[in-house]
Amino acid sequence: MAKLTDEQRAKRAAARARRKALAAEEEDRRDTERRETWAREGTRLTWDEYKAGVPCRGCGEPMYDGLGSWPGLMYLTEEEKRDYEVMEERFRELHPDCKSGRWSIGGSRVSHCCLCCPPPPMGPAQIEKLTRLFQALPSAEKRKKNLDAWELILTCDHVTTFIQHRENTYVRRVVDCPECQTRRGVVESKRLGPAYTDDGVEAARSEVEQARVVAELTKAKEQLRRQQQRAAATSSRIEELQKQLSPTVRGDGIA
Ligand SMILES: [Zn+2]
Ligand SMILES: [Zn+2]
Ligand SMILES: [Zn+2]
Repeated sequence: MAKLTDEQRAKRAAARARRKALAAEEEDRRDTERRETWAREGTRLTWDEYKAGVPCRGCGEPMYDGLGSWPGLMYLTEEEKRDYEVMEERFRELHPDCKSGRWSIGGSRVSHCCLCCPPPPMGPAQIEKLTRLFQALPSAEKRKKNLDAWELILTCDHVTTFIQHRENTYVRRVVDCPECQTRRGVVESKRLGPAYTDDGVEAARSEVEQARVVAELTKAKEQLRRQQQRAAATSSRIEELQKQLSPTVRGDGIA
């Protein structure tokens, strides 16, 4: 059997990366749509509703059934096994085509679908914890020291720079494309290095993006030059018209 050449292999890998990026982009679009629908239709439970035992508005099942989490499957008694099967059957009935993950609340056995069911609301304790975490974050200036810039090639073929903490070894699968002003899947990513110099000035930027900024600057300068030209032409026209007026009216409200 003939072996693939390096070039063929690279081509296939590139096609695979693009397919994956497009799939991620599609998934991201569905997630966004779902979140927007939930927001529009008020699907999410408020903390008060959740505490009052209002069932999930995604599937109609209780959020919390108080039955306690399932022990490991191998430790189930015969009766628990039957209960488990009944609940599994019920879940399959409610979500025949979702093919999605599921979640449940600690101490509760009922499963909710990652596709149909909005996650439970955050309680005051959780919000407070998040607030504390947020307050403990170092200042923006300090954080800059640990940021790296990455060059990303997106599904739209735009190249953009993405900045994130140095500890991240991967970039997220979907990012905002500043050119298309929409979310795009990431086909290729390359770490460029520290995003800022020690004085906090932006350091690394992809060459392509650098070129884009230079092109934009040139365009803006050209625009300014033409506007200045037009302004000069208008002001000499004004002067000319003023000269044509009789001396008594000259300058009235025009200067
Ligand atoms: Zn649900
Ligand atoms: Zn579902
Ligand atoms: Zn784009």
